[in-house]
Amino acid sequence: MTLIPNHLPTADLQALDAAHHMHPFTDGDELNAKGARIITRADGVYLTDSEGAQILDGMAGLWCVNLGYGRTELADVAAEQMRQLPYYNTFFQTSHPPVIALAKRLAELAPGDLNHVFFAGSGSEANDTNIRMVRHYWAARGKPSKKTIIARKNGYHGSTLGGASLGGMSGMHAQGGLPIPDVTHIDQPNWYHEGGDTSPEEFGLERARQLEAEIARLGEDNVAAFIAEPVQGAGGVIVPPETYWPEIQRICDAHEILLIADEVITGFGRTGNWFGSQTWNIRPDIMTIAKGLSSGYVPIGGSIVSDHVAETINGAGDFNHGYTYSGHPVAAAVALENLRILDEEGIVTRCGAETAPYLREKWMQLADHPLVGEARISGMMAGIALTPDKAARASFAAEGGTVGLRCRERCFANNLVMRHVGDNMIIAPPLVISKSEIDTLIERAVKSLDETLASITADGLMVAA
Ligand SMILES: *Cc1c(COP(=O)(O)O)cnc(C)c1O
Repeated sequence: MTLIPNHLPTADLQALDAAHHMHPFTDGDELNAKGARIITRADGVYLTDSEGAQILDGMAGLWCVNLGYGRTELADVAAEQMRQLPYYNTFFQTSHPPVIALAKRLAELAPGDLNHVFFAGSGSEANDTNIRMVRHYWAARGKPSKKTIIARKNGYHGSTLGGASLGGMSGMHAQGGLPIPDVTHIDQPNWYHEGGDTSPEEFGLERARQLEAEIARLGEDNVAAFIAEPVQGAGGVIVPPETYWPEIQRICDAHEILLIADEVITGFGRTGNWFGSQTWNIRPDIMTIAKGLSSGYVPIGGSIVSDHVAETINGAGDFNHGYTYSGHPVAAAVALENLRILDEEGIVTRCGAETAPYLREKWMQLADHPLVGEARISGMMAGIALTPDKAARASFAAEGGTVGLRCRERCFANNLVMRHVGDNMIIAPPLVISKSEIDTLIERAVKSLDETLASITADGLMVAA
């Protein structure tokens, strides 16, 4: 057995981490100077660190542990599947029971005619698949010029070359020569920060109509697809105005543009229904999935594809694309068990009917805090915007993210994982979180907000830009 035994002392682990481990989305020198917090176990909604502290995980890992930690059924299924068939591919006219069962189950759960699944190892890979699939689709239908994919600024679609190109994160585009050709970006429906004097309803329409303008600019014959998250996650939990999605749907339908809903976060109960597309009444041609699909217990992602797209792709000869781990049997078996528990224990239903509304009631009250300009929520994903001037929806004079980082650090010190995106604070707890755990989450958040306000006031940072 090469399991890591009862671990080394924290300082030794931190030193080895600094010496050999490169962290994603991290300033390496800065982290190595202070040392990573070492997480050793987890159960339910709580993480345990190497010093024994119990941390409430308000982010469900990276938005993925929908089922909560510590479900031994998933471990048992993984072990059993490894004994029976640890690996086989599906490239060369073979298939296996776990991948077949998972594809069937996803077809049942997904709305409309989303009945076919192409598997990947992650959300990024699935979006790379989507780029190739939608371009191949139009080529197969005799319209090879329909290649450009329209996406959104501040969207997040992963970190591969394709995924990061679809994403609209300027900091990511700045490194490594992105975006790839034939991807363009329109503005996001972020009313609080960008809506100015318009009402949210007007603003939602305005931002949706940018899609129509972009299609006109590029020419309808050159546009393959529009991709968006039903609710932007990594961008800061941007909940769109109610007017936004109906108008986007109308435009995609009117111009024969495929609609890709990136449900990597919003899938599997996060917004209170199985998919964000159901919450927001969207009819996507393709859905990207990952994260909550396995509750993060094993890496797996995929694209759920509608009948008409699958028929075209299946009818166009070899699709020259796939991953060694597409439909990995262990990942598929674990995902299936995760979906079984989410369903049979009524976790998605309870979240939609009880705990998400409870969280909403508590979370929206944070808007009364002197440091909070707006509270927003969709199901079990929520954000607040920090501001020095509520009425003006002002940003801080300090560099963006300074106050948010401070607040995150206060939260972490108070044993709550709440993430910051710039000067927004966001949460997406495991869907199994109970009402009393929600109370604890809110208590720790308020305490951290109070401490942040006191500290930035003392340091003269409570100043509008
Ligand atoms: C996390 C995420 C991805 C990327 O998934 P990975 O598994 O990290 O590759 C893609 N889209 C959205 C909306 C995400 O939140």
